[in-house]
Amino acid sequence: MYLTLDLGTTMKILLTEDELRRGIERIAGEIREYYQGRPLTIVAVLKGSVVLMSDLIRLLDMPLRIEIVRASSYRDSTRPGELKLKLDMLPSELKDREVLLVDDIFDTGYTLAEVLSQLARRHPAGLRSAVLLRKEGRCEVDVEPDFVGFDIPDRFVVGYGLDYQEMYRNLPHVAYLETEDL
Ligand code: 5GP
Ligand code: MG
Repeated sequence: MYLTLDLGTTMKILLTEDELRRGIERIAGEIREYYQGRPLTIVAVLKGSVVLMSDLIRLLDMPLRIEIVRASSYRDSTRPGELKLKLDMLPSELKDREVLLVDDIFDTGYTLAEVLSQLARRHPAGLRSAVLLRKEGRCEVDVEPDFVGFDIPDRFVVGYGLDYQEMYRNLPHVAYLETEDL
């Protein structure tokens, strides 16, 4: 289905609300299975993972804390820029906690790899990662996320937390932005 939205851009729906819900239920099941009720600290990467995070945590009936970090690399375009990380909201102690990093999308993997290496310095008891989306054939690092919602083709996507110039994060589905708009 094609939609024309407020910035005059054209979109094609890639993942509907129903598909997203089923994917997130599956990841939540895998996470519950892996942690077996052990207390978990979720570290969400802002801003893109806020929607995923809020849906995911409500499916995790286990002792759970939420922490946040901030990463920005795409800024105002669809092309990656220098990665900026803000970790000052993290508690100084992650030591001996089971930490699960949650991000919206794994593209080249540099963001996830960098945040994971920063978190590893705080000596958590365990460190894993979950992403909603992973782009096929793009990985340039030697880590892969442990929990993946959907593998998707290498196209620019928005919605369900993901933005284009800070817009479209509130779409309930994930959609491709047509290339002529980028
Ligand atoms: P990576 O470091 O893995 O190359 O890129 C990860 C970050 O880039 C994501 O957290 C996200 O902010 C941004 N990103 C990568 N691909 C897309 C995309 O298709 N759409 C949007 N909106 N952001 C993307
Ligand atoms: Mg991001």
